[in-house]
Amino acid sequence: MIRFEKVVKKFGDNTVLDHLDFSVRRGDRVTLIGPSGSGKTTILRLLMTLEKVTDGVIWVGDEPLSHIRRRGKLIPAPEKYLRRRRRTIGMVFQHFNLFPNMKVIDNITEAPIRVLGHSKQDARTRAMELLEMVGLADKAEQHPSKLSGGQQQRVAIARALAMEPEILLLDEVTSALDPETVSDVLDVLREIARTTDITMLIVTHEMRFARDVSNRVLMFDGGRIVEEGTPEKIFGEPDEERTRKFLHAVL
Ligand code: ADP
Repeated sequence: MIRFEKVVKKFGDNTVLDHLDFSVRRGDRVTLIGPSGSGKTTILRLLMTLEKVTDGVIWVGDEPLSHIRRRGKLIPAPEKYLRRRRRTIGMVFQHFNLFPNMKVIDNITEAPIRVLGHSKQDARTRAMELLEMVGLADKAEQHPSKLSGGQQQRVAIARALAMEPEILLLDEVTSALDPETVSDVLDVLREIARTTDITMLIVTHEMRFARDVSNRVLMFDGGRIVEEGTPEKIFGEPDEERTRKFLHAVL
């Protein structure tokens, strides 16, 4: 579903990803862990086409996300192509990023109507189903500012799902929340993991959540994968000293 092939990402002289190779199968739930600054968010931002690779190729399905084909060769995709490429990818951010001037329901229906060309009626019906799923059907006509952080985040999850993504990227989705609202958000995500086959890439400091929902954990440091394995292995008996130290510091 996703393949990073010798991906390099630099910001100036700072090499954030260093010839990174990894792949994710359809339906995988992969958690990226590692110290702050190790490049986890950059991976998600590259997949969202919010950043461009410095070198290497990112594949989504059989198609290059980061490149276009010209006369049998792959060349870096120009900016205007990139955004169109990420139709199948949804992202939920740390800071919700809801449209403050739109009601909850309109936040969810806006992209399906404008980008997917759904009718207003169909988009509303689907949005109400999604709000039901995240436990917020009664907030449809409210503005986001009237909602708690955890509720806003659940709206953001519904909004991402309304685009019917094959891949869902979750970037520290609970770290800006009050502790009492974190579990509602995690419960919704657990339910999505249980009831759908959406491929998920998760960056989180919630190690229990990572253990519950993911089938693979990748440990990053210095723009490389230090170690990977099942949650049982990585959280239970990691091979690498760096993984042990990191987990000791965060758990
Ligand atoms: P993580 O998610 O693991 O904490 P990030 O991917 O956010 O790591 O960041 C990796 C490195 O890239 C950091 O050193 C960060 O300062 C740098 N970085 C990220 N985005 C930018 C940017 N837009 N401009 C310059 N440096 C950046």
